[in-house]
Amino acid sequence: MRRRIAVVGSGPAGLSLARVLHRHDHPVAVLERDPAPDARPPGGTLDLQEELGQLALDKAGLLAEFWALARPEGQAMRILDTDGTVLRDWQPHPDDTANPEIDRGQLRDLLLGPLDVRWGQGVTQVVPGARDGVLVHFADGRQETFDLVVGADGAWSRVRRAVSSVTPHYTGVTLVETSLDDVDTRHPDLARLVGHGSLAVYGVNRALVAQRNSGGHVKVYAQFRAPLDWHRNLDLADAEAVRSRLLALFEGWTAPALALLRHGTAFVHRPLHVLPVAHTWTHVPGVTLLGDAAHLMPPLGAGANLAMLEGAELAESLATAGPADMDEVVRVFEDKMWARAGRWAQFTTAGLERLVGPDPAEALALFDQVQPS
Ligand SMILES: Cc1cc2nc3c(=O)[nH]c(=O)nc-3n(C[C@H](O)[C@H](O)[C@H](O)COP(=O)(O)OP(=O)(O)OC[C@H]3O[C@@H](n4cnc5c(N)ncnc54)[C@H](O)[C@@H]3O)c2cc1C
Repeated sequence: MRRRIAVVGSGPAGLSLARVLHRHDHPVAVLERDPAPDARPPGGTLDLQEELGQLALDKAGLLAEFWALARPEGQAMRILDTDGTVLRDWQPHPDDTANPEIDRGQLRDLLLGPLDVRWGQGVTQVVPGARDGVLVHFADGRQETFDLVVGADGAWSRVRRAVSSVTPHYTGVTLVETSLDDVDTRHPDLARLVGHGSLAVYGVNRALVAQRNSGGHVKVYAQFRAPLDWHRNLDLADAEAVRSRLLALFEGWTAPALALLRHGTAFVHRPLHVLPVAHTWTHVPGVTLLGDAAHLMPPLGAGANLAMLEGAELAESLATAGPADMDEVVRVFEDKMWARAGRWAQFTTAGLERLVGPDPAEALALFDQVQPS
């Protein structure tokens, strides 16, 4: 008899789990709060690492389709001093497959494929130990029971409460995201400066990062150390007011860096929260977590990658195990996830201190440490 599996959330974690289960002909209910796949802007670009995100896509049988969309040239990285001096200008080798970029929207559509997601089904609570399994409460008042509920519902997970009382805390670093469209025609100088990949400028407790997405779209992230309520006297919905505040924060920086903020359209506020580096919980039969719900960490290129591989690995183990072994499969999965995610959480937490910190030379040293020359 097949076990009733539900995954809450259709981000990289939930879709990877569902897609690999689907490949093994195992049914799964994907419960997603958003009313439609395009209900929100999908976000920027993701680099998918060979040993993590790409491995997950391989398990889903999607690697060839991924490579048709991926941008290996997007691995390029240019680093400037705040006065505009070029400190590093790294270009990937043409056959470098380590970390190609893909737009989040493209990745979502690739993973979605034939999946039948239940859109507009926000989960409010998950109660393990019910007579017939794990009870899922929906925002519209309905309830449904499953044998296994996988919480892939991101940073502010509702499922997490069923296994852990821990909640995310603020890192002290805030991101404000803005975007430029049609850069190659509208802002050719900036387009050349950003190149095919990323441009980063590191200052004291501040950084500006611009990343090329497909279709001439560039996302810009202003990053700075500030208290959580730094915007107390600022209307975040007022783009011109946010722009002026950012220009003041980055005053004196090289003109092209400021131009990225001047030409940016809408501004999105993203204070960076994390879970404790070694977040684990006492195993609860019938419920588990993966992705950001389990190990939210600073966005240094690992979160989506880990989320995808966890989803794919758990799905593979569930699909090949007998129904009676499900709980043991989940226990083994959790141990493996905690160990791997813990290492990445340590690395990205230390990385954030160095990238947005008092000594910009540390950001450069970190780049030299991780980037093959
Ligand atoms: C600016 C930025 C850049 C980043 N760049 C990278 C990168 O280059 N590489 C990388 O690996 N990672 C990157 N990350 C991290 C990455 O975005 C996350 O780690 C990844 O999205 C986590 O995937 P997830 O599926 O666990 O959660 P999410 O992507 O957050 O998906 C959760 C899903 O659950 C749904 N949901 C939430 N609550 C409910 C509910 N109650 N009921 C039903 N559904 C619900 C949400 O609508 C959403 O669809 C970046 C993050 C940021 C902020």
